[in-house]
Amino acid sequence: MTTITRFAPSPTGYLHVGGARTALFSWLYARKHGGKFILRIEDTDLERSTQESVNAILEGMAWLGLDYDEGPFYQTQRFARYKAVIQQLLEQGDAYYCYCSKEELELLRNEQMANKEKPRYNGKCRHGSEPVAGRDPVVRFKNPEAGVVTIPDMVKGEIVIANKELDDLIIARADGTPTYNLTVVVDDMDMGITHVIRGDDHINNTPRQMNILTALKAGIPHYAHLPMILGPDGARLSKRHGAVSVMQYRDDGYLPEALLNYLVRLGWSHGDQEIFSIDEMVAYFELEQVNNSASAFNTEKLVWVNHQYIMNSDPGHVARHLSWHLGQLGIDPSRGPDVADVVLAQRERCKTLVEMAAASVYFYQDFEAYEEKAEKKNFSQGTESVLENLLNRFAALNSWDQEALHQVVLDTAETLQLGLGKVAQPLRVAVCGTAMSPAIDITLKLLGREKTLGRIKTAIDYIKTKI
Ligand code: GLU
Repeated sequence: MTTITRFAPSPTGYLHVGGARTALFSWLYARKHGGKFILRIEDTDLERSTQESVNAILEGMAWLGLDYDEGPFYQTQRFARYKAVIQQLLEQGDAYYCYCSKEELELLRNEQMANKEKPRYNGKCRHGSEPVAGRDPVVRFKNPEAGVVTIPDMVKGEIVIANKELDDLIIARADGTPTYNLTVVVDDMDMGITHVIRGDDHINNTPRQMNILTALKAGIPHYAHLPMILGPDGARLSKRHGAVSVMQYRDDGYLPEALLNYLVRLGWSHGDQEIFSIDEMVAYFELEQVNNSASAFNTEKLVWVNHQYIMNSDPGHVARHLSWHLGQLGIDPSRGPDVADVVLAQRERCKTLVEMAAASVYFYQDFEAYEEKAEKKNFSQGTESVLENLLNRFAALNSWDQEALHQVVLDTAETLQLGLGKVAQPLRVAVCGTAMSPAIDITLKLLGREKTLGRIKTAIDYIKTKI
């Protein structure tokens, strides 16, 4: 049987990292088993669902590279089907109309609370209900009264729930619209989902969904309920812990593979291995090895993983992502060195692409001013003659290669009887505006002849007039 998994987000906000991890685990499981991964947008809550959120989910999935074989399916386009299934359940006696009023239910609830009982529907309309004039009924599922439901959970192990703990849940509201548990069941059934992988906040829904599936004579999928992701303080990860939206991680300079790698390790392990290529993740991933307990999000670790990816990925690939960040800074990456060469020069020192972009602006754009501290430390009366000396030698070079550039700096230091730093640092500030850059010969090579000579001239004039 083909393995079919799905990711079924409700479009009521951005794609959360917790959601992304659920999507990743479902995707990995399908890929590992040569199956299918389906994207289903659960947009039946018309008040809370927005097109903007749908776009955010699609954008997040695309950025992460989590491709789906079918979908996106939209539940709002399947209302006719849900209606038909509700009708079927009514006809076969597995569902019934309930005319109880809000007030009655409220009263019942209050009584149960007062008696310290779990609030639940008492089944009044289950055994025959009379239509009430002017009141549209809801439809309730007739949950079995006896026996147990055993959830075959691949992460948590078998979970057994007694049917008497479950009341008759509403499957259609008074306006005829289906509720969450009904739509999920119909979709999982129609889409042939073999493995339902989702957050363990849904665990209470599972026995109800299994009972409805049984009433519909549908097969029961395997379930895997994933423990929540916590913030560093032990509370469920939320906005107040910082970034939780997947696209925020893009904006903060993470590579999508690094985020996936970080997320796969959050609650899953394979020996001591920390870094996994996508192929390795697919090969090694097992739901049975997913941790039973919640795991805490650790940004430092994510930064570390990101840096590993920046350092070890194909520079051309990193360059594509860096170009986007340069674009965010208003830089046209075609107006300077090949971005992949910048990646090679910067990757040891930059842990995020935001850092790398910020540290690479001078390769593409002239700067307005010298960094104050760098200027103070490295420009003084006399620096202009060091720069003039360098300028003449650079201008005389036939080829702008790294070795020749390095030699110029060495020769200048020797001629002027200065330490290397006394030559390289003023030069660096002159051409970069800051005292931090890759090795000076690499920096100059990347900048190219024109920018280098032009900026040295500008610095000489500046020192002569201002210092
Ligand atoms: N739409 C639900 C949510 O976003 C998920 C339902 C499911 O996976 O069964 O929480």
